[in-house]
Amino acid sequence: MFDVLDDTIVAVSSPPGQGFRGIVRISGPRAVGIAGGLFADADATPLSQRGGFRRFCGEVRIEGDASVPAELYLFRAPRSYTRQDLVEFHTIGSPPVLAMLLERIIEGGARAAEAGEFTARAFFNGAMSLNEAEAVAALIGAQSDAQLRSAHRLREQAPARQVQAWMRQLTELCALVEADIDFAEEPIEFITPANLRDRLTALRAELDKLIHDAKGSERFETLPTVLLIGPANAGKSSLMNALSQTDRAICSAVAGTTRDILTAPMSLPSMDCLLLDGVGLTHTDDELIQLAQSLTKTAVSRVDLLCLVVDVSVEHRNKDLEILRDHRRQRAVIAANKCDLMDVDKCAARVAQLRRAKLGPVQTTSAASGAGLEKLKSAIQDRLCEDQQHGQEHTILPGARLQSAITAASAALGRAGRQACGMGETIDRAELIALELREALDALSVICGVVTTEDLLARVFADFCIGK
Ligand code: GDP
Repeated sequence: MFDVLDDTIVAVSSPPGQGFRGIVRISGPRAVGIAGGLFADADATPLSQRGGFRRFCGEVRIEGDASVPAELYLFRAPRSYTRQDLVEFHTIGSPPVLAMLLERIIEGGARAAEAGEFTARAFFNGAMSLNEAEAVAALIGAQSDAQLRSAHRLREQAPARQVQAWMRQLTELCALVEADIDFAEEPIEFITPANLRDRLTALRAELDKLIHDAKGSERFETLPTVLLIGPANAGKSSLMNALSQTDRAICSAVAGTTRDILTAPMSLPSMDCLLLDGVGLTHTDDELIQLAQSLTKTAVSRVDLLCLVVDVSVEHRNKDLEILRDHRRQRAVIAANKCDLMDVDKCAARVAQLRRAKLGPVQTTSAASGAGLEKLKSAIQDRLCEDQQHGQEHTILPGARLQSAITAASAALGRAGRQACGMGETIDRAELIALELREALDALSVICGVVTTEDLLARVFADFCIGK
């Protein structure tokens, strides 16, 4: 996989489909030559003689004499994403235009890139660690803003730097212990057992702390998910804000304000979950809202629980419950919202009507006054916990590679520590300790891209899309 790194690759790297701006990215030794042949601007200096880190405005030829306006971004090796010469054309986001431009560049001698190939080059050319490459994949794949935050954190925190520091310490320890083996006959002491024990303990504590912190930061992605659905204006966005105590959703009296799926963490009595707010599913001719509705409909079958929000202050409409009838296999709770707008008896009658539909527990709420919110949270937790899986701590983490590598290293250090504990004045089990230290080093080096396996790389880069 990706065994050729020195040819020139090209791909459309803006999202697929019609967009405001389309980006075509070329990387490799011929990138500047090929781009220069297609690009024209007011400057007579050939592109090959211009400096990097610059942007030029002009036109790019896409077919015969036909050109379209384009900006050209020039990055010179090694100061580029891939550490190779890299050119980006930013032009009209029309798929046919981008396809024609791609064709011209391929005619010029570039090859169509495979998914993840740009980032793979960045990795192989030393511009980023495997961990950072994985973070890029996570960014591309992020489906909720909680996931996006987590991916950003992964990229920004770059635990790889921390891991490199540990590897330096481990290498030194390993060298000292191995020196003890090599010079066993000599009266030289490279490291005392006490010093070795102390350093092993301190190092292991740092590793364990990172595992603990990572669990906290990536927790969101494995939280059970609850999707608020229901007719427009029932109060989903207001409930989202009230339940999560954030201002994630913009609430308005205009039906169909929420056009995207918003997410926010929510604390339940004894666990956390992720609350999702989709668009109202009321029929509309607005294409944008229809698109958002299809997003919500897809989410309906993927989440752990549906929370149907109905406005109890208006006459009960049968079609409000349709979505739950269509997804009977999905667990659900019903929030009879806006109870503050009506008297208690009338409200109770409407709630009884909702209960008769037998689609899930019904709880009266008011996003405006806060009434019933804690009870709704309890009902959500109870429903989620019916599924055993969510009653427990979620331990499957997306940064699983990082987690498992550090956990393996920590375990190896633990074993080395136990060997060291039994020692007296001299290091008498040096071979066994050295073996464990090497194992810890091997585990950590996987994160920094020093030692890595084909399998592992294939898995990381397989998640990419073309152009990244
Ligand atoms: P969505 O379309 O379902 O997301 O509904 P919104 O949350 O945007 O709410 C629609 C309108 O109803 C807004 O004007 C809210 O202020 C109002 N609203 C929402 N919940 C309540 C509630 O519990 N009581 C009252 N009185 N008004 C509410």
